[in-house]
Amino acid sequence: MLQFEDALPQSAGPAPQPVVPQAEYVPAPQLTDTAKLRRVNVADKRIINGQTDVNQLVPFKYKWAWEKYLSACANHWMPQEIQMARDIELWKNPRGLTEDERRLVKRNLGFFVTADSLAANNIVLGTYRHITAPECRQYLLRQAFEEAIHTHAYQYIVESLGLDEGEVFNAYHEVSSIRDKDEFLVPFIDTLTDPAFKTGTLETDQALLKSLIVFACLMEGLFFYVGFTQILALGRQNKMTGAAEQYQYILRDESMHCNFGIDLINTIKMENPHLWTSEFREEIRALFVKGVELEYRYAEDTMPRGVLGLNAGMFKEYLRFIANRRAQQIGLDPLFEGATNPFPWMAEMIDLKKEKNFFETRVTEYQTGGALSWD
Ligand code: FE
Repeated sequence: MLQFEDALPQSAGPAPQPVVPQAEYVPAPQLTDTAKLRRVNVADKRIINGQTDVNQLVPFKYKWAWEKYLSACANHWMPQEIQMARDIELWKNPRGLTEDERRLVKRNLGFFVTADSLAANNIVLGTYRHITAPECRQYLLRQAFEEAIHTHAYQYIVESLGLDEGEVFNAYHEVSSIRDKDEFLVPFIDTLTDPAFKTGTLETDQALLKSLIVFACLMEGLFFYVGFTQILALGRQNKMTGAAEQYQYILRDESMHCNFGIDLINTIKMENPHLWTSEFREEIRALFVKGVELEYRYAEDTMPRGVLGLNAGMFKEYLRFIANRRAQQIGLDPLFEGATNPFPWMAEMIDLKKEKNFFETRVTEYQTGGALSWD
């Protein structure tokens, strides 16, 4: 009689894979039995190392986080709603753009197509696990989706223009000015995504705070700004207006990510003043100086000559101006005395509260119905 095993085909599916040893999973801090039984008391909530139930959003303590979550939802947009026909026509026209402008667009996308994926990893696999305030976790979930929308937007531009996907998506390995920025960031992402990393000691709480600062102030708050300014400058010259409109929405989202991160950092500092030592502050200042240097190198690489009335020297000043502002936002002294803003028009780009957007590609301010005021 045929045994059941014999009836099975000889080669069922792929050969068994060797077992790869996994790092031991360390769960987030568990609530004590007494904490589980207690109703959530607002006064007990903490951004890190909290001992209240993270599943109970209310009672609210961190209203700023909840309000940012509501604003972010009100700003919802999707990339495919933006017309790319004019960009495609311009890109395909051999005389539509100069070689320098084309290099700028490709290098620009070369950074961004993978940057928001790194940002998403950092939030979903890292930050979210270590934050114990449910209001902040709620915002982080929204932020994670926005990172996905941004990656979608960059992919949509790459596809619309018919760019070499392999070249653009591998730029973060192959183009040194982009790779250097990412290699600077990755250790800070790795800290938080390491399954064995656990907050609750001076050392690990400072490591978390440092990663949050690098991420909000340097990645989202500095490393995005050469790229945003370049594409928005193209849009101001009536070139690549579809891409520029996408970047305008991304800039609005990113400036909120950056502001949320800064509020998070300042609240952690307030709740844990012992973390903010003079050595720690010196370390952060050195990271800011390094960040400015890397972003300036990226500016030089994307604009070897002046283009669109922009040049790398203007960006040196701009990056110093932004770094000063980020430093002050988290309570550090400015790093570069007297730096001024060569691109005051960028502030207007963040503020979309007007009847038509800057590039006049859409008729109304983009806010979803639920957020409109009826009074
Ligand atoms: Fe972001």
